[in-house]
Amino acid sequence: MKYNSLLLIGAPGSGKGTQGKILGTIPGFFHFSSGDLFRSVDAQSLIGKTFFEYSSKGLLVPDEITVELFNSYIEKMITEKRFRPKVDYLVLDGLPRNVRQWHILSDKVDVHYVYHLYCSDRSILEARLKGRAASDHRMDDNEEVIKKRFEVYEKETKPLLNLFSPERLIEIDCSVLPYQVLREILKPLP
Ligand code: ADP
Repeated sequence: MKYNSLLLIGAPGSGKGTQGKILGTIPGFFHFSSGDLFRSVDAQSLIGKTFFEYSSKGLLVPDEITVELFNSYIEKMITEKRFRPKVDYLVLDGLPRNVRQWHILSDKVDVHYVYHLYCSDRSILEARLKGRAASDHRMDDNEEVIKKRFEVYEKETKPLLNLFSPERLIEIDCSVLPYQVLREILKPLP
């Protein structure tokens, strides 16, 4: 059985995490954030060390490790009845992040809608990331690493948008308020 999924795709600072977290509080939606999952892993474990090695440079963690971590986490969530595949939408935030990850995942994930959170003004996104850096103390929030994360997004993640049919692809301007973005996300859902 494939997971009924909604994909959030957008540059760093576009608000995927904000929207994912809000949706995750609504019964019928389960939020999966690959970044949050990586950050929750023991820093001394092999996965934790690999995550540090790549993310501190603004790079993607290798695909196999990422997808395996997703699979084991989702299975655990199903066992614990926190994610109920028959009734919940799986809100994917940060995964897939490149075309190869999508090919590995596509037999498990049935994509209902892909939300592209776009912003025509990069400085808005940069200001959000700077604001977050002040409070979150993430190791990938310094200026040089942020620049790399934007590059990786353009080169590796954005091409994903071409893989989905236009009826499933929803373009949302993410420079507006979170509740306004949320309204656009909910609009096409039955
Ligand atoms: P943002 O979307 O704001 O850049 P995330 O919290 O989603 O930040 O991700 C932080 C870091 O975690 C990424 O830069 C990357 O190193 C790693 N990461 C998250 N998701 C993936 C993924 N699907 N594949 C590989 N690496 C990932």
